[in-house]
Amino acid sequence: MHNKTIAELSRALAAGEFSSQELTRHYLDRIQALDSKYNCFISVTEERALADAVAADQRIQAGTATPLTGIPLAHKDIFCTQGIRTSAGSRMLDNFIAPYESTVSGNLAAAGTVLLGKTNMDEFAMGSSNENSFYGAVKNPWDTAAIAGGSSGGSAAAVAARLTPAATGTDTGGSIRQPASHCGITGIKPTYGRVSRWGMIAYASSLDQAGPMARTAEDAALLLQVMAGLDPKDSTSVDQPVEDYSATLNDSLEGLRIGIPQEFFAEGLDSGVEHCVREAVKELEKLGATVTEVSLPNSQLSVPAYYVIAPAEASSNLSRFDGVRYGYRCEAPTDLEDLYTRSRAEGFGAEVKRRILVGSYALSAGYYDAYYIQAQKIRRLIKNDFVSAFEQIDIIVGPTAPTPAFNLGEKSNDPVAMYLSDIYTLSTNLAGLPGISIPAGQSAGRPVGLQMIGNYFSEARLLNIAHRFQQATDWHQQAPVTTDA
Ligand code: GLN
Repeated sequence: MHNKTIAELSRALAAGEFSSQELTRHYLDRIQALDSKYNCFISVTEERALADAVAADQRIQAGTATPLTGIPLAHKDIFCTQGIRTSAGSRMLDNFIAPYESTVSGNLAAAGTVLLGKTNMDEFAMGSSNENSFYGAVKNPWDTAAIAGGSSGGSAAAVAARLTPAATGTDTGGSIRQPASHCGITGIKPTYGRVSRWGMIAYASSLDQAGPMARTAEDAALLLQVMAGLDPKDSTSVDQPVEDYSATLNDSLEGLRIGIPQEFFAEGLDSGVEHCVREAVKELEKLGATVTEVSLPNSQLSVPAYYVIAPAEASSNLSRFDGVRYGYRCEAPTDLEDLYTRSRAEGFGAEVKRRILVGSYALSAGYYDAYYIQAQKIRRLIKNDFVSAFEQIDIIVGPTAPTPAFNLGEKSNDPVAMYLSDIYTLSTNLAGLPGISIPAGQSAGRPVGLQMIGNYFSEARLLNIAHRFQQATDWHQQAPVTTDA
C-alpha cells in the first residue's frame, strides 16, 4: 500500500480494495516501526487519524468522497491544528495546543484527508538542514548520515520513507524545494498569495508560502487544488480563480521556452548535480521544449538580501513570544523583565536568537537605511531580472540546491556555509514567484532535484511540465533502500 501514490490510493479506496481505516493503520504501523530511525514526526495523532479514517470510510460509502477522502497526510508542525500541539520545532511552543485551525489544514481536513501527525522542522522554519529543531535532527532516509534538508525536513523525509503518502510544507527561502530535492520527492512553492497563510506560524511574512510535498506532480496537483484560493482571513491571499491543476497535467510541451540562467551554473555547483540538471534539460527538449540562456544578474545578491529581510521580519514576528500569553515561561520570574528575558533566552534555540539579533540590528535606527532599505532595493532588482527573463521564456530551469544532501554536522558550525546552500531557491521567494523541485537523478548515491521557476500564477504549467517529465523518467519512482527495512 505504501508504494502507491495518492492518485492510485484514491482509485483503490473508491474501488473498495481496502478501506481508509486499513490504510491508516498501515501507515501508523510503519511510523511506529520506522520513525525512530529518521525522526520525521514531532507528534503522531493516532486517535485523530483513526477517527478521520472512520469518517472518510462513511463518506466513501455515501458517495460524497473527494479525490482526497481517506488519504493519510502529515502536516508540518507550523500549521495550527486545533486541539493538537503545534510546536514550530521550538521549545517555546512545546506546550502549545493550538486553539484554532489553519486554513490549509482545515481545507485538507474538509476534503476528507486523515491526519497522521505533525512533522519535524527547523525551529520556526529557520534552517536548511533540519538540525535546528528542539526535537532533534531529521535523518535522510536515503542515507541516515545525511541531512534531510530544511526547514520542512520531517515532511520530506516522511514522504521519502513512505511513512505518509504526502505532507504539507512551507517555503520562505526554499524550505519546500530544498528538502524535496534532498529526499528525492516532488515539492511546489506556489506564487506568494496563492495559498492562505492564516494559522501558519509566521517566520517572514512577505516570503512565507505553504505548498504540498508528495511523490509525484500528479499528487501535488490534487493537494494544491484544495490548499489554494482566496481566504478572507489572510489579506495577502489573492483573489484569482484557482485553475484545475489536474486537468492540464498531460498538456503538450511542444514549443515550451526554457531559460537556463548562467548564474545557476557557477562556482560551487557539484558536478554530479550539474550533470543531472543538464540531462533533465535534454529530456525536456525531447518533449518539445526549446532552450535559451538567460541572465539573472542580481540573483547572486539573493543570499545577502534574504538574510537581512527574513531576519528583520522574524525579529518582529517573534516578539509575540514573551512568556506571558502562551508558550514557554521560565520558572519563578522575579519581575516582568526577568520573565521576558529568561523565557526568551530559555525558549528559543541558538539559530533563532541569531536571526532575532541580526534582524533587530538591521531594523534599528541608524542601520535601517544601510541594511534593510538596501536589501529591499536589491529585492526589487531581483524581481526585475525575472520580469525581463519571462519576456523571452516561459520557465527557468536549474538545480534546486548546489550539492546533494550534506552530512549531519557538516555545516552546523558555519552559518554562512549553511546560508549558501539556499543560493538557488531564495530569489524565487524574494520575487514572490512559484517554483517546483522534482527528482532528476542522483549524485554520490543521494537524490538531486531539478528546480523549475515559472511566472506568477503558473502553478498549473509547472505541474504540467513536471508531470510530463515524470511520465518520461523514473527518478520519482526510486525509493531509498531503507524504506522496507
Ligand atoms: N534556509 C532558509 C532559512 O533558513 C529558508 C528557510 C525556509 O524556507 N523556511 O531561512
